[in-house]
Amino acid sequence: MTKAIVWFRNDMRLNDHPALVAACEGADEVYPVFIVDERLVNGSRASANRNRFLRQCLIELQTALAQRGSGLLIRVGRPEVVLPELASQIGAQVVLALSDLTPFARSRDERVTTALRTVGKAMKWLPGRIVIDTPAELLSGSGRPYQVFTPFYKSWLLQPRRPVLDEPVIPKLPLTWSKAAIASLSKLELLSSPIAGSTLAQQAVAGGRHAAQERLHQFVTIKADQYQELHDDLAADGTSHLSADLHFGSLSAREVEVATEVFDAFRRQLAWRDFYQYVLWHFPDTIKMEFQERYRGMTWVDDEGLAHAWRQGQTGYPVVDAAMRQLLHEGYMHNRARLIVGSFLTKDLGLDWRIGEDHFTRHLIDGDTANNNGNWQWIASVGVDSAPMFRRLYNPMTQQTRYDPTGAYVRRYVPELAAVPLEYLARPWEMPLAVQKTAQCVIGRDYPEPVVDHVEARQAAIERYRIP
Ligand SMILES: Cc1cc2nc3c(=O)[nH]c(=O)nc-3n(C[C@H](O)[C@H](O)[C@H](O)COP(=O)(O)OP(=O)(O)OC[C@H]3O[C@@H](n4cnc5c(N)ncnc54)[C@H](O)[C@@H]3O)c2cc1C
Repeated sequence: MTKAIVWFRNDMRLNDHPALVAACEGADEVYPVFIVDERLVNGSRASANRNRFLRQCLIELQTALAQRGSGLLIRVGRPEVVLPELASQIGAQVVLALSDLTPFARSRDERVTTALRTVGKAMKWLPGRIVIDTPAELLSGSGRPYQVFTPFYKSWLLQPRRPVLDEPVIPKLPLTWSKAAIASLSKLELLSSPIAGSTLAQQAVAGGRHAAQERLHQFVTIKADQYQELHDDLAADGTSHLSADLHFGSLSAREVEVATEVFDAFRRQLAWRDFYQYVLWHFPDTIKMEFQERYRGMTWVDDEGLAHAWRQGQTGYPVVDAAMRQLLHEGYMHNRARLIVGSFLTKDLGLDWRIGEDHFTRHLIDGDTANNNGNWQWIASVGVDSAPMFRRLYNPMTQQTRYDPTGAYVRRYVPELAAVPLEYLARPWEMPLAVQKTAQCVIGRDYPEPVVDHVEARQAAIERYRIP
């Protein structure tokens, strides 16, 4: 009788799961397990929003497995301790999981492999986290990893694809296991504890496979046709909102690619996701430091007051404040808005991109190490896919009038500005006092003065980036 453990991590699904398929094909008994690692759910990078989403995913996964006569056992601890112990108790010969690409995951997974080997158990890693299966082998003509997106993308399009796998027949398990699995749901209380520095959003997307499938369906049937035109429009809500589903794996990247294959502009975004995972895999040191060596010793402005104003959406720049408040309110922010606030933090305020990365990590439901780090470095002009810094130094007023031309996005998240006439909405500080009074928005009283002057800040940023 062969027995296998499937270790679920950020792959909250039963379909298109190469590890689950391999386990069900190769073993008579398959034991699904999830391990709550307190370093992740309660450590310095934890997020109350992600914990809630994960909890919803886990409850649904547990229900789905229970309906099949199986069950997801939830344990708390270090995987390198829990898995060898559990494998020995069960008498499982092998543990299977989908490989992950971040530095933290890779070192943890190496420890798990070694710990299992020590007790005579095998660990089997399978691909399934991103669209392509072999990021290690995708290299440029010179034999080195790509550092620029467009050539990566051209090559990415030509990579072989794995078929989307159906859910396998999952063997039923003894009643004792199913009961233990249901009882272990109580461990999920850990995911409901408040986390210092991480606000729980009031209006957040729901986690779980059903909600994810519904979002994918809505996107493909209603929005995808217009994605190219609307994805940058801040008020239109023209994007898929699938980022958290992709992060937690309630949808597989490959299944989303197949469902959206005909929409090139959207598929390109999936390639960006693969690209940042790929970059972090090939250059793990960029988790801590700038990809571009010349910017590693850069002097950033040290001003907690400015950082606080940015985090709270109180900078006096309406589009920046709307975006930052969207994040606090929904645990989500539109991609164009992420770019605007990223440019504002690093260029206008001159603050270290890691301050932004950290705040996003603490609040985004889709907070993802590779995507967050890669995008922050990109917008700070210190990462891969480099371009002169001023090309990513955005004017917040111009961005607002271009991407929120009716002001609907700003008014949605900054109620103080609701009655400000459109002609002043991007520069409310230019309103004559009489207009401020009519609009019930006196600058400095109801809405802040701009924390910096954009023209001066722009010049200072250009100087700051002028590194010998
Ligand atoms: C400073 C900054 C930080 C970011 N941090 C994160 C993060 O922590 N987690 C995260 O998932 N995305 C991050 N992004 C990328 C992007 O903003 C989000 O993926 C996107 O807004 C999610 O909304 P959506 O699912 O509706 O996107 P869609 O436009 O519908 O895109 C579909 C999918 O493509 C992927 N994608 C889209 N844009 C990007 C991109 N620029 N880079 C990588 N993948 C992309 C995402 O998985 C997304 O779900 C960040 C962007 C910036 C500028």
